[in-house]
Amino acid sequence: QFHMIKYEDLKWDESLGQGSFTRIYRGHKTDIRDGENYTTEVLLKELDAGHKNCWESFFESASLMSQISHKHLLLVYGVSVHGVQNIMVQEFVKYGALDLYLKRGRSVSVSWKLDVAKQLASALNFLEEKHIVHGNICAKNLLLAREGDQSQGISPFIKLSDPGISVAMLVVLDRIPWVAPEVLDAPDDLTLECDKWSFGATVWEIFNNGNSPLQGWDLDEKRQFYESFQKLPPSQWAELADLITQCMDYQAALRPSCRSIIRQLNSLITSDYEILHSTEPVTQ
Ligand code: ATP
Ligand code: MG
Repeated sequence: QFHMIKYEDLKWDESLGQGSFTRIYRGHKTDIRDGENYTTEVLLKELDAGHKNCWESFFESASLMSQISHKHLLLVYGVSVHGVQNIMVQEFVKYGALDLYLKRGRSVSVSWKLDVAKQLASALNFLEEKHIVHGNICAKNLLLAREGDQSQGISPFIKLSDPGISVAMLVVLDRIPWVAPEVLDAPDDLTLECDKWSFGATVWEIFNNGNSPLQGWDLDEKRQFYESFQKLPPSQWAELADLITQCMDYQAALRPSCRSIIRQLNSLITSDYEILHSTEPVTQ
């Protein structure tokens, strides 16, 4: 299903932290092609030794990403197994996770955020056409490959990362509000509609400068949020708030198609938003 990479061909550089049951490192991989050595910068995602029982799910995520190709989907080069170590080798994306990038306080314009949302929608549309469920869409899993420069008309460029360990192996409540409410009852039955919900939550995050919705809530409060059918605080931009609400509909069947999402994103005019905010500072 995927390319096996020899452990000897990998070089480990600094740690970039931890994910869900994973440790993340920057590194390099060496290939020999036509008798010449090539090195590529890579990201090494190693499954925690304490969670070896998740390896199937971990490799399924690698396999999924290896089988599909789209400009806004992260490239996975393959996997490497070395003794007890299970490693996913993937493209290193220069500016890292989008939530951290936005939280660092980089001031980006509304049209920048809208570009990112459109790029994610195009990746989602691609997956929808192929009937592939991602299952872990959030701003943390959007990686920023290019910052863009508005003065020169250059857009940002994002790539959607691999879904990682299946939510069924994790604490589902932790993933509120990104995980669709119906997943709480059936964590093994992810559908395309679940990704629509996550898309809505992710767009919410992007327009709230990477701040996590429901930050600091405990698991019980999060569960109650869903049990009482609550919604995230709406954006002041009515048309955007409406799109997020449609995606985060508690009735999965009512969530919009990707075509509809793209059409609605294309009809958003950023000047409307800027007029709305011209008299007041944009609040967090
Ligand atoms: P999850 O499955 O929950 O997404 P994970 O194992 O993918 O967990 P993350 O929390 O998504 O781990 O990623 C940890 C950090 O590693 C991110 O915040 C980001 O800064 C960095 N990172 C992840 N993937 C890449 C990549 N391909 N290129 C550069 N940085 C990355
Ligand atoms: Mg991730």
